Amino acid sequence: MLPEFKNEAFTDFSIPENKTAMETALNSVRKELGKRYPVVIGGRAIMEGDTFKSVNPANYNQLVGEFTKGTKDHADLAIKTAAEVFEEWRSVPAYERARYLLKAAAIMRRRKYELAAWMVFETSKSWSEADGDMAEAIDFLEFYAREMMRISEPQPVVGYTGEENELYYIPLGVIAVIPPWNFPCAILVGMTSAAIVSGNTVVLKPASTAPTIGFKFFEIMEEAGLPAGVLNFLPGPGGAIGDTIVDHPKTRLIAFTGSMEIGLRIHERAAKLNSGQIWIKRTILEMGGKDFIMVDETADIDAAAEGIVAAAYGFQGQKCSACSRAIVQEDIYDELLEKVAEHARKIKVGEPDNPKHFMGAVIDQAAHDKILEYIEIGKKEGTLVLGGGKGSKGGWFIEPTIFSDIKPDDRLAQEEIFGPVLAFIKFKDFDEGIRIANGTMFGLTGALFSRNRSRLERGRAELHTGNLYLNRKCTGALVGVQPFGGFNMSGTDSKAGGRDYLLLFTQGKSVCERF
Ligand code: NAP
Repeated sequence: MLPEFKNEAFTDFSIPENKTAMETALNSVRKELGKRYPVVIGGRAIMEGDTFKSVNPANYNQLVGEFTKGTKDHADLAIKTAAEVFEEWRSVPAYERARYLLKAAAIMRRRKYELAAWMVFETSKSWSEADGDMAEAIDFLEFYAREMMRISEPQPVVGYTGEENELYYIPLGVIAVIPPWNFPCAILVGMTSAAIVSGNTVVLKPASTAPTIGFKFFEIMEEAGLPAGVLNFLPGPGGAIGDTIVDHPKTRLIAFTGSMEIGLRIHERAAKLNSGQIWIKRTILEMGGKDFIMVDETADIDAAAEGIVAAAYGFQGQKCSACSRAIVQEDIYDELLEKVAEHARKIKVGEPDNPKHFMGAVIDQAAHDKILEYIEIGKKEGTLVLGGGKGSKGGWFIEPTIFSDIKPDDRLAQEEIFGPVLAFIKFKDFDEGIRIANGTMFGLTGALFSRNRSRLERGRAELHTGNLYLNRKCTGALVGVQPFGGFNMSGTDSKAGGRDYLLLFTQGKSVCERF
């Protein structure tokens, strides 16, 4: 019997042994930087051909890894291989499949400092952000293993005299997994493990700015004994090989997390029937957000200020759930703005291998430039209260930035920036606050701080986000506790880490025998 699912505890780095363990891991990973990594198809490592580089955003002259650049031919071969291996993997019993995930979770737990250290270098996560990413990845493995065991049990159907009726869930086929770089372990592991444990085979194309941690997971699955070809590792530029993966007639489902633009492109292409294709492709598309924390005049202002700062600047604001809009009732607007600015002013920005730095760099030059462009837009639309500048040289740093006087329809209030830029927006009455909160094309996360019971109830009913939080920040969803996914242009609301998730990777078969 397995113990019940429990979320992985976060590491307390104030405990000296934990701090030492992380320092040791950072030192040993530092020695491993700059290695060369392959494409792996059907267990065969391919090193030939062009390469691309993954670098440390906080020190962009430091090479993290060099990867074989997957081509369209590799993509085609990977999908064909996965389709062949599927014919065997589909009939491996669910409990046996689940054990690969449990084994991988145990390996990851034993190596969590080292894996977190890789993310510090590759994505500029602070220690605690990298540790949180690891904990979530372990949670997905543990949770989906148990979920697969649960849904492989006989499903309840209504009895019918003279017959035996059954419903069970069978796998789909080849799943293309296309994760983003911002939770390069958790989201990649979550989507991949859900697909595998449900009996599918996978072609995994990691994000090009964070492929190393994806390769580490691939190795862990190999170490856990996963048969060759169940998981195929295909690094390469999405712009060059993405369409081939999505369009392929043997691709059955595309599990994607990333930007709205790419998500919509996949949605459109997946709808098209290609020669030799005999199914309607499924898509799981989890996309961007323009998330908010709304604060009314009855709220605990200190708690709201802390929540806003943590949600706006944790991992440099590069979470799909990050707070980019503070929507504040006018009577407390100035006071809350001052408190948020006071906290944000104290944030230390710099190389995240130093634990004093709460914020590292943003992921790459393109993100850096885009965020600075939004800062210029913000200067025209509102008032710059804090930050607005680049950080120190050698890395893609940006200061924690606050704009006040942003209007609900301004670009800063409508478009996803994906950086440490927070817009303060004022409302007069609660109705207007709700209208502003709901007034974007997205609907991923949101939070309401209030002490007024009837407003909290209205918030529950009327704030239209896939993940809503009352009197706490809008980031930090836990697997199993707050299943995650957004409304409207934030995606297909797949509710990762929830009880419905694995069903997306399966099809229900209803069997009836009359005696
Ligand atoms: P992205 O640019 O859309 O990239 C996501 C993935 O798609 C990457 O692996 C990328 O590969 C690949 N890709 C690029 N072009 C493609 C194409 N034409 N066909 C198929 N795949 C293609 O997003 P990102 O910058 O990595 O991630 C940030 C975005 O993800 C934000 O919008 C954020 O809100 C969203 N996000 C959403 C959630 C959620 O749960 N809703 C969670 C996390 C992040 P390359 O790296 O090679 O370009």
